[in-house]
Amino acid sequence: MSSHKIETLRVHTLSIPAKATHSHGSGNVSGINVALLELTTDTGITGWGEASPWPVFTGTVEGNAAALHIHLRPHLIGQDPIQIEPLMTRADKIIVDHPEAKAALECALLDITGQITGLSIAELVGGRHRDEIPMSFSIANPDFEVDLEDIASLWADGVRLFKLKTGFADHAFDLHRLETLRAKYGDEIGLRIDYNQGLPAYDAIRHIRDLEAFRPDFVEQPVKMHEREALAAITHAVDVPIMADESVFNPRDALLGAQSRIADIFSLKIMKAGGIRRALEVAAIARATGIEVYGGCMFEASIAHAAGAHLMAAVPDLQLGCEFYMSTYYAAEDIATEPFPVRNGMVHVPTAPGLGVTPDPEKLARFRTALME
Ligand SMILES: [Mg+2]
Repeated sequence: MSSHKIETLRVHTLSIPAKATHSHGSGNVSGINVALLELTTDTGITGWGEASPWPVFTGTVEGNAAALHIHLRPHLIGQDPIQIEPLMTRADKIIVDHPEAKAALECALLDITGQITGLSIAELVGGRHRDEIPMSFSIANPDFEVDLEDIASLWADGVRLFKLKTGFADHAFDLHRLETLRAKYGDEIGLRIDYNQGLPAYDAIRHIRDLEAFRPDFVEQPVKMHEREALAAITHAVDVPIMADESVFNPRDALLGAQSRIADIFSLKIMKAGGIRRALEVAAIARATGIEVYGGCMFEASIAHAAGAHLMAAVPDLQLGCEFYMSTYYAAEDIATEPFPVRNGMVHVPTAPGLGVTPDPEKLARFRTALME
């Protein structure tokens, strides 16, 4: 028991413009829309968390804001913020799904607990295996010439990992982009592929075999999230490692997926699992069955990216890096008081007590679409 109690809960919904439109197998995105949770204790400590849904993938900002403000709020006010697992277990009983709202809640509780104890979130969830993580940038512009310019400037920044969003135009365009990048940057570039469910299951294997000549590190989520048998069949048929993203959200999905070897890699996301600790449960199942993990994200602002960085610092084995580039390279502006720490192509895990990243009140006011208090 601590001597602190949760006194106030506020939800800010934000719409942050992007520098460019990104195209995916599952649609176009041109901004970052999130709900920020602000929890304050009777002792004056404030914890922050972020829910970053994508309607075609996980849920909506409105639904998650309501989950936090209407459904979970009555069960949080007056509670001890360091009782994280009991509060999260209760949240699971109060409202089904809404993993993004639960990720925001867990993050805000961990942020407060870290400030009380003087420990960063990575330390609170088990300790840090690393202080920096190689960062991958996603190439998803329908105009490849613009992407080539972006890649050149990111290359100068030290970024060496690039993930091509494929399956939103034709197959020849995907092959052309891979061929161009492999020819231009040689073996120094790490190329990854993400179909975002964009391939037809009946013909996916042939498409993926065509890409293998360009030696991608992995191919992510080629088929629809519910086509799990097809995903497992693809994994068994091709040589390139296959990553499950949309098909594996939480520990239950991970366990069922591991039993059928649905993929060689799971994309870990706090927005799918419902928080850092649930994502670590997914990572534990993956580790026990020889499945690799990767630091994935949604369209996130820097609060969620910081939570993801703490998660990936606490994962024992990490070969493939993370993709926490949104607040640095995709958002028109970072909303944090200090920019989310990306330097020389590496994400640096915050070291301050708690989350280590705080929103700037002026930017909150500028990008806010609603405040629920
Ligand atoms: Mg993905």
